[in-house]
Amino acid sequence: ATMPPLLAAIANAGRHGVLVKSAVALERLGSTTRVAFDKTGTLTRGAPELAELRPVPGLDADGLLRLAAAAEQPSEHPLARAVVRAARDRGLHLPPAHDFAAQPGRGVSARVDGELVRVGSPAALVPEGHPVAHELERRGHTAVVVVRDGHVAGVLGITDQVRREAAPAVAAVTTLTGTAPVLLTGDNHAAAARLAGAVGIADVRAGLLPADKVSAVGELEAAGRRVAVVGDGINDAPALAAAHAGIAMGGAGSDLTLRAADAIVVRDDLTAVPAALALARRARRVVT
Ligand code: ADP
Ligand code: MG
Repeated sequence: ATMPPLLAAIANAGRHGVLVKSAVALERLGSTTRVAFDKTGTLTRGAPELAELRPVPGLDADGLLRLAAAAEQPSEHPLARAVVRAARDRGLHLPPAHDFAAQPGRGVSARVDGELVRVGSPAALVPEGHPVAHELERRGHTAVVVVRDGHVAGVLGITDQVRREAAPAVAAVTTLTGTAPVLLTGDNHAAAARLAGAVGIADVRAGLLPADKVSAVGELEAAGRRVAVVGDGINDAPALAAAHAGIAMGGAGSDLTLRAADAIVVRDDLTAVPAALALARRARRVVT
């Protein structure tokens, strides 16, 4: 007996490295008309590296890094892992983090050596702006601010490499849907625009909190598009769930994100996304 076309399409997606959760999920992928990509961990490798340490006068580079890394120890965020790795590489001894809390899309807070330490985006921690953060962002870094007991202790500059296959994947998605993809990111506008230019995305929406990503998807869908959101982070879970279709990058994806998705990319390769969309479309033509 031949396999029913839906099952054949799901099996085929599996061979391309995409786990499609159900027949309904396949239908959603196949009827997608616009794709929204997250940046960090989706279009970038998600392996950011610490590039600069800019402590305030009176604190040295290791002191700043030790403070930031201690607070970030419990965090799963790619930026947090880069900070902790850099501290370990320098042989720094990290005191424990107490009362740790993460604010998705903003940063973390913890008590270190009895002091309240916050590590996160300039938008969240220095809304009035900060010259060093601005300088780093203009140069394409993600700036991460460290605040100790209410005072800025310094700024970290972090860079993340674009995935080699990001530009071809974006081009394939553009051809397939006939619509320009969108970038939705919590990162700053300068870093986002630089990356978007490198991968061929013109529509950039930056500085978005998780709820803003949901509103952005709502706007795109109100304009008559059926949107598939591709993301990896816990900050993408609400948008993945709200969109017509949700695609999670499995590599570093959080459980919540995997649960919210219709499909999971289990191979560390973004071209699996256009491949899955293409065969979901074909399956739809066969069935209907
Ligand atoms: P993206 O949408 O690009 O995947 P996120 O929404 O995860 O980015 O994060 C948005 C911004 O929030 C980051 O660029 C960073 O400035 C800040 N941020 C979030 N989590 C952390 C963390 N654990 N440590 C430092 N900064 C963080
Ligand atoms: Mg991400």
